[in-house]
Amino acid sequence: MIGCYLAMVYKLRRHDKSFLVWSVACFVFVAGGCAAGARAYLDQPLLTYLLADLLLLLSPALVVTGLVLFLRGQLSARSRQQAALLLTLYLLPLSMLYQVNNASTALTSLSIAVVFIYAVVLLKKARLTPGFPASVLQLFFALHSGLMLLQFLLVMPFIGEESRVLALPSLQWVLLGHVLLTTSTGFMLPLLSFSHTENQLLRLTELDDLTQLLNRREFLKRANLTLLNSRRQQHSVVVLMIDLDHFKLINDRWGHAIGDLALKKVADLLKVGLRTSDLIGRLGGEEFAVLMPNTSAGQAAFIGQRLCERIAHHAWEIDARPVKLTVSVGGATCVDALRDLTELLKDADDALYQAKASGRNKIIFQSGPSITSL
Ligand code: GH3
Ligand code: MG
Ligand code: MG
Repeated sequence: MIGCYLAMVYKLRRHDKSFLVWSVACFVFVAGGCAAGARAYLDQPLLTYLLADLLLLLSPALVVTGLVLFLRGQLSARSRQQAALLLTLYLLPLSMLYQVNNASTALTSLSIAVVFIYAVVLLKKARLTPGFPASVLQLFFALHSGLMLLQFLLVMPFIGEESRVLALPSLQWVLLGHVLLTTSTGFMLPLLSFSHTENQLLRLTELDDLTQLLNRREFLKRANLTLLNSRRQQHSVVVLMIDLDHFKLINDRWGHAIGDLALKKVADLLKVGLRTSDLIGRLGGEEFAVLMPNTSAGQAAFIGQRLCERIAHHAWEIDARPVKLTVSVGGATCVDALRDLTELLKDADDALYQAKASGRNKIIFQSGPSITSL
Protein backbone atom coordinates (compact mmCIF):
# COMPACT_ATOMS: atom_id res chain seq x y z
CA MET A 1 0.00 0.00 0.00
CA ILE A 2 2.78 2.44 0.93
CA GLY A 3 4.57 1.50 -2.30
CA CYS A 4 1.42 2.39 -4.29
CA TYR A 5 1.06 5.63 -2.31
CA LEU A 6 4.66 6.65 -3.10
CA ALA A 7 4.16 5.66 -6.75
CA MET A 8 1.13 7.97 -6.88
CA VAL A 9 3.21 10.83 -5.44
CA TYR A 10 5.80 10.09 -8.13
CA LYS A 11 3.07 10.33 -10.79
CA LEU A 12 2.38 13.86 -9.52
CA ARG A 13 6.06 14.80 -9.27
CA ARG A 14 7.72 13.08 -12.19
CA HIS A 15 10.77 15.34 -11.91
CA ASP A 16 11.52 13.86 -8.47
CA LYS A 17 12.93 10.37 -9.07
CA SER A 18 13.38 9.77 -5.33
CA PHE A 19 9.67 8.86 -5.02
CA LEU A 20 10.04 6.24 -7.73
CA VAL A 21 13.03 4.74 -5.90
CA TRP A 22 11.20 4.81 -2.53
CA SER A 23 8.18 3.15 -4.12
CA VAL A 24 10.36 0.41 -5.62
CA ALA A 25 12.00 0.00 -2.17
CA CYS A 26 8.57 -0.90 -0.71
CA PHE A 27 7.86 -3.53 -3.37
CA VAL A 28 11.34 -4.97 -2.96
CA PHE A 29 10.70 -5.19 0.79
CA VAL A 30 7.43 -7.07 0.17
CA ALA A 31 9.14 -9.43 -2.31
CA GLY A 32 11.97 -10.08 0.17
CA GLY A 33 9.46 -10.71 2.97
CA CYS A 34 7.49 -13.18 0.81
CA ALA A 35 10.64 -15.02 -0.24
CA ALA A 36 11.81 -15.23 3.39
CA GLY A 37 8.32 -16.34 4.49
CA ALA A 38 8.49 -19.21 2.00
CA ARG A 39 11.28 -20.78 4.09
CA ALA A 40 8.66 -22.70 6.04
CA TYR A 41 7.29 -24.34 2.89
CA LEU A 42 10.12 -24.54 0.39
CA ASP A 43 13.53 -26.12 0.53
CA GLN A 44 15.06 -23.72 -1.97
CA PRO A 45 17.80 -21.87 -0.03
CA LEU A 46 18.85 -20.01 -3.15
CA LEU A 47 15.42 -18.37 -3.27
CA THR A 48 14.36 -18.31 0.38
CA TYR A 49 17.72 -17.30 1.87
CA LEU A 50 20.09 -15.84 -0.70
CA LEU A 51 17.55 -13.93 -2.79
CA ALA A 52 15.27 -13.14 0.17
CA ASP A 53 18.08 -11.61 2.24
CA LEU A 54 19.46 -9.75 -0.75
CA LEU A 55 16.03 -8.18 -1.37
CA LEU A 56 15.58 -7.36 2.32
CA LEU A 57 18.88 -5.48 2.28
CA LEU A 58 18.19 -3.82 -1.07
CA SER A 59 15.00 -2.26 0.27
CA PRO A 60 16.67 0.05 2.89
CA ALA A 61 19.56 0.57 0.45
CA LEU A 62 17.01 1.93 -2.04
CA VAL A 63 15.50 4.16 0.66
CA VAL A 64 18.96 5.68 1.18
CA THR A 65 19.46 5.95 -2.61
CA GLY A 66 16.18 7.90 -2.79
CA LEU A 67 17.39 10.16 0.02
CA VAL A 68 20.63 10.88 -1.84
CA LEU A 69 18.64 11.65 -5.00
CA PHE A 70 16.34 13.94 -3.03
CA LEU A 71 19.22 15.77 -1.32
CA ARG A 72 21.68 16.02 -4.21
CA GLY A 73 19.41 15.77 -7.24
CA GLN A 74 21.51 12.96 -8.74
CA LEU A 75 23.69 9.98 -7.94
CA SER A 76 27.31 10.84 -8.60
CA ALA A 77 29.63 8.29 -10.23
CA ARG A 78 31.44 8.07 -6.87
CA SER A 79 28.23 7.22 -4.99
CA ARG A 80 27.42 4.50 -7.54
CA GLN A 81 30.91 3.01 -7.18
CA GLN A 82 30.64 3.07 -3.39
CA ALA A 83 27.21 1.41 -3.51
CA ALA A 84 28.50 -1.30 -5.87
CA LEU A 85 31.50 -1.93 -3.60
CA LEU A 86 29.33 -2.20 -0.47
CA LEU A 87 26.91 -4.53 -2.21
CA THR A 88 29.80 -6.77 -3.26
CA LEU A 89 31.14 -6.73 0.30
CA TYR A 90 27.72 -7.94 1.46
CA LEU A 91 27.20 -10.48 -1.33
CA LEU A 92 30.55 -12.23 -0.85
CA PRO A 93 29.90 -13.52 2.70
CA LEU A 94 26.19 -14.00 1.90
CA SER A 95 26.96 -16.35 -1.00
CA MET A 96 29.12 -18.45 1.35
CA LEU A 97 26.84 -18.34 4.39
CA TYR A 98 23.32 -18.63 3.02
CA GLN A 99 23.32 -22.42 3.41
CA VAL A 100 24.34 -22.16 7.10
CA ASN A 101 21.23 -21.98 9.25
CA ASN A 102 20.37 -18.43 10.41
CA ALA A 103 23.74 -17.03 9.30
CA SER A 104 22.34 -14.99 6.40
CA THR A 105 19.67 -13.50 8.69
CA ALA A 106 22.37 -12.34 11.12
CA LEU A 107 24.51 -10.89 8.33
CA THR A 108 21.56 -9.12 6.72
CA SER A 109 20.31 -7.69 10.04
CA LEU A 110 23.73 -6.22 10.76
CA SER A 111 24.06 -4.80 7.25
CA ILE A 112 20.60 -3.19 7.39
CA ALA A 113 21.53 -1.61 10.76
CA VAL A 114 24.59 -0.04 9.08
CA VAL A 115 22.49 1.23 6.14
CA PHE A 116 20.04 2.95 8.53
CA ILE A 117 22.88 4.54 10.52
CA TYR A 118 24.14 5.94 7.21
CA ALA A 119 20.65 7.36 6.56
CA VAL A 120 20.73 9.12 9.97
CA VAL A 121 24.14 10.66 9.20
CA LEU A 122 23.01 11.72 5.72
CA LEU A 123 19.97 13.57 7.09
CA LYS A 124 21.94 15.12 9.93
CA LYS A 125 24.53 16.51 7.52
CA ALA A 126 21.86 17.88 5.18
CA ARG A 127 20.55 20.36 7.83
CA LEU A 128 17.18 20.65 6.09
CA THR A 129 14.66 23.35 6.89
CA PRO A 130 12.18 22.90 8.39
CA GLY A 131 14.01 20.47 10.65
CA PHE A 132 10.98 18.66 12.08
CA PRO A 133 10.30 16.01 9.35
CA ALA A 134 14.04 15.29 9.01
CA SER A 135 14.35 14.85 12.80
CA VAL A 136 11.38 12.45 12.91
CA LEU A 137 12.86 10.45 10.04
CA GLN A 138 16.24 10.35 11.77
CA LEU A 139 14.48 8.96 14.83
CA PHE A 140 12.74 6.29 12.73
CA PHE A 141 16.01 5.32 11.05
CA ALA A 142 17.86 5.20 14.38
CA LEU A 143 15.10 3.04 15.93
CA HIS A 144 15.15 0.81 12.88
CA SER A 145 18.89 0.47 13.13
CA GLY A 146 18.60 -0.43 16.83
CA LEU A 147 15.91 -2.99 16.01
CA MET A 148 18.11 -4.63 13.38
CA LEU A 149 21.01 -4.76 15.82
CA LEU A 150 18.71 -6.42 18.33
CA GLN A 151 17.67 -8.94 15.66
CA PHE A 152 21.34 -9.61 14.94
CA LEU A 153 22.05 -10.24 18.64
CA LEU A 154 19.01 -12.51 18.98
CA VAL A 155 19.95 -14.55 15.91
CA MET A 156 23.69 -14.86 16.65
CA PRO A 157 23.41 -17.73 19.18
CA PHE A 158 21.34 -19.75 16.69
CA ILE A 159 23.83 -19.67 13.81
CA GLY A 160 24.30 -23.23 12.59
CA GLU A 161 21.51 -24.50 14.86
CA GLU A 162 18.63 -26.54 13.49
CA SER A 163 15.85 -24.41 15.01
CA ARG A 164 14.13 -21.84 12.82
CA VAL A 165 14.99 -18.65 14.58
CA LEU A 166 12.16 -16.64 13.00
CA ALA A 167 9.67 -18.68 15.03
CA LEU A 168 11.05 -17.21 18.30
CA PRO A 169 8.44 -14.97 20.01
CA SER A 170 11.00 -12.21 20.60
CA LEU A 171 11.77 -12.14 16.88
CA GLN A 172 8.09 -11.95 16.03
CA TRP A 173 8.01 -8.65 17.96
CA VAL A 174 11.11 -7.44 16.15
CA LEU A 175 9.45 -8.25 12.82
CA LEU A 176 6.33 -6.35 13.84
CA GLY A 177 8.50 -3.33 14.76
CA HIS A 178 10.27 -3.66 11.41
CA VAL A 179 6.97 -3.48 9.50
CA LEU A 180 5.65 -0.60 11.62
CA LEU A 181 8.82 1.46 11.19
CA THR A 182 8.89 0.78 7.45
CA THR A 183 5.29 1.98 7.18
CA SER A 184 5.94 5.10 9.29
CA THR A 185 9.02 5.92 7.22
CA GLY A 186 6.98 5.54 4.02
CA PHE A 187 4.47 8.08 5.31
CA MET A 188 7.15 10.49 6.49
CA LEU A 189 9.21 10.64 3.28
CA PRO A 190 6.68 12.72 1.27
CA LEU A 191 6.30 15.08 4.23
CA LEU A 192 10.06 15.60 4.25
CA SER A 193 10.12 16.30 0.54
CA PHE A 194 7.05 18.56 0.43
CA SER A 195 8.01 20.68 3.45
CA HIS A 196 11.53 21.15 2.09
CA THR A 197 10.30 22.07 -1.39
CA GLU A 198 7.72 24.48 0.03
CA ASN A 199 10.44 26.13 2.09
CA GLN A 200 12.64 26.52 -0.97
CA LEU A 201 9.77 27.99 -3.00
CA LEU A 202 8.98 30.40 -0.20
CA ARG A 203 12.60 31.54 -0.12
CA LEU A 204 12.51 32.04 -3.89
CA THR A 205 9.57 34.39 -3.50
CA GLU A 206 11.25 36.31 -0.67
CA LEU A 207 14.83 36.63 -1.83
CA ASP A 208 16.48 38.40 -4.71
CA ASP A 209 18.04 35.78 -6.98
CA LEU A 210 21.36 37.50 -7.57
CA THR A 211 22.25 38.83 -4.14
CA GLN A 212 20.17 36.59 -1.84
CA LEU A 213 19.02 39.73 -0.03
CA LEU A 214 15.31 40.36 0.55
CA ASN A 215 13.56 41.37 -2.65
CA ARG A 216 11.61 44.62 -2.81
CA ARG A 217 8.21 43.15 -1.87
CA GLU A 218 9.53 41.14 1.08
CA PHE A 219 11.68 44.04 2.31
CA LEU A 220 8.66 46.38 2.32
CA LYS A 221 6.50 43.76 4.03
CA ARG A 222 9.01 43.05 6.79
CA ALA A 223 10.01 46.70 7.14
CA ASN A 224 6.36 47.66 7.80
CA LEU A 225 6.08 44.96 10.46
CA THR A 226 9.37 46.01 12.07
CA LEU A 227 8.23 49.63 12.09
CA LEU A 228 4.97 48.69 13.85
CA ASN A 229 6.93 46.71 16.40
CA SER A 230 9.36 49.58 16.99
CA ARG A 231 6.42 51.98 17.43
CA ARG A 232 4.95 49.75 20.12
CA GLN A 233 8.28 49.63 21.91
CA GLN A 234 8.96 53.34 21.29
CA HIS A 235 12.29 52.62 19.64
CA SER A 236 13.76 54.92 17.05
CA VAL A 237 14.46 53.49 13.58
CA VAL A 238 16.73 54.46 10.71
CA VAL A 239 16.26 53.84 7.01
CA LEU A 240 19.23 53.90 4.63
CA MET A 241 19.06 53.99 0.84
CA ILE A 242 22.28 52.82 -0.78
CA ASP A 243 23.06 53.29 -4.45
CA LEU A 244 26.20 52.25 -6.33
CA ASP A 245 28.03 55.18 -7.90
CA HIS A 246 28.45 55.30 -11.67
CA PHE A 247 27.53 51.67 -11.91
CA LYS A 248 26.59 52.04 -15.55
CA LEU A 249 30.27 52.77 -16.28
CA ILE A 250 31.28 49.51 -14.61
CA ASN A 251 28.87 47.58 -16.81
CA ASP A 252 30.05 49.48 -19.87
CA ARG A 253 33.70 48.93 -19.10
CA TRP A 254 33.77 45.39 -17.74
CA GLY A 255 30.52 43.86 -18.98
CA HIS A 256 27.23 42.91 -17.34
CA ALA A 257 28.55 39.66 -15.83
CA ILE A 258 31.23 41.52 -13.88
CA GLY A 259 28.58 44.07 -12.90
CA ASP A 260 26.50 41.22 -11.47
CA LEU A 261 29.47 39.92 -9.46
CA ALA A 262 30.09 43.44 -8.14
CA LEU A 263 26.46 43.66 -6.99
CA LYS A 264 26.86 40.34 -5.18
CA LYS A 265 30.02 41.56 -3.47
CA VAL A 266 28.36 44.75 -2.31
CA ALA A 267 25.47 42.67 -0.96
CA ASP A 268 27.94 40.46 0.93
CA LEU A 269 29.67 43.51 2.40
CA LEU A 270 26.30 44.86 3.52
CA LYS A 271 25.47 41.55 5.21
CA VAL A 272 28.81 41.50 7.00
CA GLY A 273 28.74 45.18 7.94
CA LEU A 274 25.25 45.29 9.44
CA ARG A 275 23.60 43.65 12.43
CA THR A 276 21.45 40.53 12.11
CA SER A 277 18.46 42.52 13.34
CA ASP A 278 18.78 44.98 10.42
CA LEU A 279 16.66 44.32 7.34
CA ILE A 280 18.55 44.54 4.06
CA GLY A 281 16.80 44.48 0.70
CA ARG A 282 17.59 45.02 -2.94
CA LEU A 283 14.93 47.45 -4.05
CA GLY A 284 15.90 47.14 -7.70
CA GLY A 285 18.86 47.49 -10.07
CA GLU A 286 21.85 48.74 -8.09
CA GLU A 287 19.83 50.19 -5.24
CA PHE A 288 19.64 48.70 -1.75
CA ALA A 289 17.67 49.67 1.36
CA VAL A 290 18.35 48.99 5.02
CA LEU A 291 16.00 49.32 7.95
CA MET A 292 17.75 49.47 11.32
CA PRO A 293 15.43 49.00 14.29
CA ASN A 294 16.32 50.35 17.72
CA THR A 295 19.02 52.59 16.27
CA SER A 296 19.73 56.25 16.86
CA ALA A 297 20.69 58.66 14.08
CA GLY A 298 24.22 58.91 15.53
CA GLN A 299 24.72 55.14 15.48
CA ALA A 300 23.33 54.90 11.94
CA ALA A 301 25.63 57.70 10.71
CA PHE A 302 28.60 55.82 12.14
CA ILE A 303 27.52 52.48 10.62
CA GLY A 304 26.67 54.09 7.27
CA GLN A 305 29.99 55.88 7.07
CA ARG A 306 31.85 52.68 7.94
CA LEU A 307 29.95 50.92 5.13
CA CYS A 308 30.94 53.61 2.61
CA GLU A 309 34.56 53.31 3.69
CA ARG A 310 34.57 49.53 3.58
CA ILE A 311 33.16 49.47 0.08
CA ALA A 312 35.43 52.25 -1.20
CA HIS A 313 38.59 50.70 0.28
CA HIS A 314 37.76 47.09 -0.50
CA ALA A 315 40.28 45.38 -2.77
CA TRP A 316 37.90 44.98 -5.70
CA GLU A 317 39.42 42.34 -7.88
CA ILE A 318 36.53 40.69 -9.67
CA ASP A 319 37.48 37.93 -12.06
CA ALA A 320 41.02 39.38 -12.18
CA ARG A 321 39.70 42.84 -13.11
CA PRO A 322 40.54 45.83 -10.91
CA VAL A 323 37.01 47.15 -10.47
CA LYS A 324 36.63 50.34 -8.41
CA LEU A 325 33.41 50.85 -6.56
CA THR A 326 31.87 53.40 -4.23
CA VAL A 327 28.38 53.90 -2.89
CA SER A 328 26.30 56.90 -1.87
CA VAL A 329 23.98 56.59 1.09
CA GLY A 330 20.92 58.58 2.07
CA GLY A 331 19.48 58.19 5.55
CA ALA A 332 16.26 59.08 7.35
CA THR A 333 15.64 58.69 11.06
CA CYS A 334 12.51 58.59 13.10
CA VAL A 335 12.20 58.81 16.88
CA ASP A 336 9.70 56.34 18.38
CA ALA A 337 9.08 55.03 14.85
CA LEU A 338 6.18 57.42 14.49
CA ARG A 339 6.39 57.89 10.73
CA ASP A 340 5.25 55.88 7.73
CA LEU A 341 7.65 53.65 5.88
CA THR A 342 6.80 55.41 2.61
CA GLU A 343 7.75 58.80 4.14
CA LEU A 344 10.96 57.43 5.58
CA LEU A 345 11.96 55.86 2.28
CA LYS A 346 11.18 59.10 0.45
CA ASP A 347 13.30 61.14 2.88
CA ALA A 348 16.16 58.65 2.58
CA ASP A 349 15.83 58.83 -1.21
CA ASP A 350 15.97 62.65 -1.13
CA ALA A 351 19.08 62.47 1.05
CA LEU A 352 20.60 59.98 -1.40
CA TYR A 353 19.92 62.42 -4.22
CA GLN A 354 21.80 65.10 -2.26
CA ALA A 355 24.70 62.71 -1.64
CA LYS A 356 24.88 62.04 -5.38
CA ALA A 357 24.61 65.73 -6.27
CA SER A 358 27.33 66.73 -3.83
CA GLY A 359 30.01 64.39 -5.17
CA ARG A 360 29.00 60.77 -4.30
CA ASN A 361 30.84 58.28 -2.03
CA LYS A 362 29.27 59.80 1.07
CA ILE A 363 26.39 59.51 3.50
CA ILE A 364 23.85 62.25 4.05
CA PHE A 365 20.93 62.31 6.49
CA GLN A 366 17.76 64.11 5.54
CA SER A 367 16.98 65.39 8.98
CA GLY A 368 19.82 63.77 10.84
CA PRO A 369 22.56 64.97 13.07
CA SER A 370 25.47 64.72 10.71
CA ILE A 371 26.17 65.33 7.09
CA THR A 372 29.22 63.29 6.54
CA SER A 373 31.50 63.20 3.53
CA LEU A 374 34.29 60.74 3.18
P1 GH3 B 1 24.70 57.09 -10.26
O1 GH3 B 1 26.00 57.24 -9.59
O2 GH3 B 1 24.07 58.39 -10.58
O3 GH3 B 1 23.77 56.18 -9.51
O4 GH3 B 1 25.01 56.41 -11.67
P2 GH3 B 1 24.68 54.95 -12.12
O5 GH3 B 1 25.40 54.71 -13.39
O6 GH3 B 1 24.96 54.01 -11.01
O7 GH3 B 1 23.12 55.01 -12.30
P3 GH3 B 1 22.19 54.75 -13.53
O8 GH3 B 1 20.79 54.76 -12.98
O9 GH3 B 1 22.50 55.68 -14.65
O10 GH3 B 1 22.54 53.29 -14.01
C1 GH3 B 1 22.31 52.17 -13.25
C2 GH3 B 1 22.92 51.00 -13.96
O11 GH3 B 1 22.78 49.81 -13.19
C3 GH3 B 1 22.28 50.74 -15.27
C4 GH3 B 1 21.97 49.27 -15.30
O12 GH3 B 1 22.43 48.66 -16.47
C5 GH3 B 1 22.73 48.75 -14.10
N1 GH3 B 1 22.05 47.61 -13.51
C6 GH3 B 1 20.83 47.58 -12.94
N2 GH3 B 1 20.54 46.34 -12.50
C7 GH3 B 1 21.61 45.57 -12.81
C8 GH3 B 1 21.92 44.19 -12.63
O13 GH3 B 1 21.15 43.39 -12.08
N3 GH3 B 1 23.12 43.74 -13.07
C9 GH3 B 1 23.99 44.57 -13.67
N4 GH3 B 1 25.16 44.09 -14.07
N5 GH3 B 1 23.73 45.88 -13.86
C10 GH3 B 1 22.56 46.38 -13.45
MG1 MG C 1 23.81 54.16 -9.22
MG1 MG D 1 20.15 53.74 -9.09
